[in-house]
Amino acid sequence: MGYIHSLETFGTVDGPGVRFVVFFEGCPMRCQYCHNPDTWHMQDGTKMQADEIIEKMERNRSYYATGGITATGGEPMMQLDFLLELFTKAKEKGIPTCLDTSGIMFPGTQENVLCQEKIPGMEDSLCPEKLSGKEDSLCPEKLADKEDSLCQEKIPGMEDSLCPGEKQKKDRLEKIACLMEVTDLVMLDIKHIDDTEHRKLTGQSNQNILSFAKYLDSIGKPVWIRHVVVPGITLEEHELKELGRFLSTLSNVEKLEVLPYHSLGKVKYDNLGIEYPLKDTPQTTKEQAAWAREQICSTWKREKTGEN
Ligand code: SF4
Repeated sequence: MGYIHSLETFGTVDGPGVRFVVFFEGCPMRCQYCHNPDTWHMQDGTKMQADEIIEKMERNRSYYATGGITATGGEPMMQLDFLLELFTKAKEKGIPTCLDTSGIMFPGTQENVLCQEKIPGMEDSLCPEKLSGKEDSLCPEKLADKEDSLCQEKIPGMEDSLCPGEKQKKDRLEKIACLMEVTDLVMLDIKHIDDTEHRKLTGQSNQNILSFAKYLDSIGKPVWIRHVVVPGITLEEHELKELGRFLSTLSNVEKLEVLPYHSLGKVKYDNLGIEYPLKDTPQTTKEQAAWAREQICSTWKREKTGEN
């Protein structure tokens, strides 16, 4: 069973073709430009079974002849078991699958992001440190600087075996490997290439995200990269070029989408009573977005081919 924000039956910007889009609830990031703040808290979602979602899609299966199902959110990989079940069932029916993710849940140096949300009945699948009795110390905001803390404690009498954090990481990697076997395409958002700036923009480090990108490259998984350009935040030439350099190290990127920041999500913040962080930031113009794309792509090409 998963916690779902909503279903969209005719998505045209969430992967190839026309898509049945599943918005998952729950996200450990707090991107300043997020236009879905209503997906941040998993417990706000509607509980749904994977079969129920597939059945809803299949009612209009002919719509999706050129597309398939897309999991987005929120962060779908926060509900990894459910996502795996959903995509496994989709593939059994021959439905193409696309995962739209920030990659933040990939096990890297920031294990603690797993545990922001305490979901009744799902605690054990989310929280590696449940095993070591540290349930109250798991909020990512509190742990931003404690990335290496998970595996410091060994189980008494079992010092030579995996500590709980290591075991959880291994289990999670195995599940992600299974998920990738039933995922046709990953749309990966790289919010900011600079870690310090990424933390300011999203509240989280980008290290897990970049590790996920490298992992996807290592298994040859097709990826579309998405990057939102925001004046004063992600519209800096040297950072865009750095992103181009990073992309040149990957060989699985099929497409780059450079998306201009817009403030259409502000109304949701107003409705939720949350202050909109970018209220003084202008929207990105088409010209700025095209310029940003050129900075990324020219560097990417130059690094890849050695040509100027
Ligand atoms: S990753 Fe960022 S943009 Fe996406 S849902 Fe989470 S906070 Fe919003």
